[in-house]
Amino acid sequence: MVKRETTLAFFGGVDEIGGNKILLKDSDTKVLLDFGMSFAMKKQFYSPPFLSPRSERSLLELGILPRLDGVYRFDKKPPEVDAVFISHSHLDHSAYLSFINREIPVHCGETTQTILRALTEMRRADLEFDVEGLVFKSFRTGDKVTIDSLEVEPINVDHSVPGAYGFVIYTSNGAVVYTGDFRVHGSKPEMTRDFVDKAKNSDPVAVITEATNLVGASVSSESEVHEKLNSIVGQAEGIVLAEFAYADVDRLNSFFQVAKKCGRCLAVSLKQAYLLNALRTDKKLKVPDLNDESILIFRKSKRRYDKWESQILQQYENKVVDVFEVSKCQCKVVLALSFYDLEELVEIQPEAGSCYVLSASEPFNEEMEIDFEKLMKWLGHYGLPQYHVHVSGHIMPLQLKAILEEINARNIFPVHTENAGLFCKLMRDLKGKVMLTEKEKAYRL
Ligand SMILES: [Zn+2]
Ligand SMILES: [Zn+2]
Repeated sequence: MVKRETTLAFFGGVDEIGGNKILLKDSDTKVLLDFGMSFAMKKQFYSPPFLSPRSERSLLELGILPRLDGVYRFDKKPPEVDAVFISHSHLDHSAYLSFINREIPVHCGETTQTILRALTEMRRADLEFDVEGLVFKSFRTGDKVTIDSLEVEPINVDHSVPGAYGFVIYTSNGAVVYTGDFRVHGSKPEMTRDFVDKAKNSDPVAVITEATNLVGASVSSESEVHEKLNSIVGQAEGIVLAEFAYADVDRLNSFFQVAKKCGRCLAVSLKQAYLLNALRTDKKLKVPDLNDESILIFRKSKRRYDKWESQILQQYENKVVDVFEVSKCQCKVVLALSFYDLEELVEIQPEAGSCYVLSASEPFNEEMEIDFEKLMKWLGHYGLPQYHVHVSGHIMPLQLKAILEEINARNIFPVHTENAGLFCKLMRDLKGKVMLTEKEKAYRL
């Protein structure tokens, strides 16, 4: 009998944080693990909104979208890939589903599907993010999905967005483990623990691991973040302005509970409200109820509202507040405010004793530095002190080493990192072979 060949090839997520696109072939069976947007590559060529890709042709031309046969909806070729598995809804793992042939099924967690659909509804016609027409097949931990010769076991992991999964994939040549993005310091470390146990028990031939945090790692936890927020909000006399990733439900829960405890309301953005409304049916997820007395929905000052915005404004009419209302009850509000909402401060006129809490990553590239300087100007103008209270969505370096030692795979492929060389050296005493993952090369297992 001819031996079935298993290969792994990486079309994104190599020498960059995100953009993961991994092709796993097991004889004639082909699956893609994640199909994300490469922010790093896009940034090299484009400067939105005025210099943006016009069509998929530009993205292919520049190598931002890999040249793959039988994958895309635009090349009119019959599908050659049997399925796409999405680890979680962050755009660096999911956005380029936009280009996937609609005949190829997309497997992801139920929560991920809800978030991706909500995101599509919130964005106007967007070349690089549109899940319309995709055939989603959702899974939960405990399910096993069979794709011809492969059996895929998704396992919930802890990350900065709900519904994140790692995978154990049983191939003809042993198990392949894919971590997706994960950590052990969030609100549900036990899920990651369960994933590691299952990965270890599969006696894997390969592990594909994220390795985002290798430099500048800062040790904290979601519970520590909660405590710090409690202390800051408790001391504030005026308004508390808070910036955090809108799909980071753990952080949203932390701000909500802290606001409640301090006798304040959390005023969420329309985008957050739309997502919370969509996630409300997710029984296993704990999210604040938009009807809760400690929740308000903040309506930005603008002339016209999109369909999805009008829907929220109508559905939760008595929860909606504008700048003028917020301005009148500053000591009663924690207001979720992103960088792009800073104009609202002109009407709010923050009182003395107000503050700004950055609860997201510090700037890590040039563009972010420039925006950060602008933020500092605004805060300086209104006399707002800035706090940084955050914990990363990604595992810390030595914890990762211990986990990889435990999983004990024969081959170790780092992805989602700008420090693969450092990773290889750090992991050099592991029993398995540590690879310096190369883009587009097929690795035979
Ligand atoms: Zn990522
Ligand atoms: Zn992520």
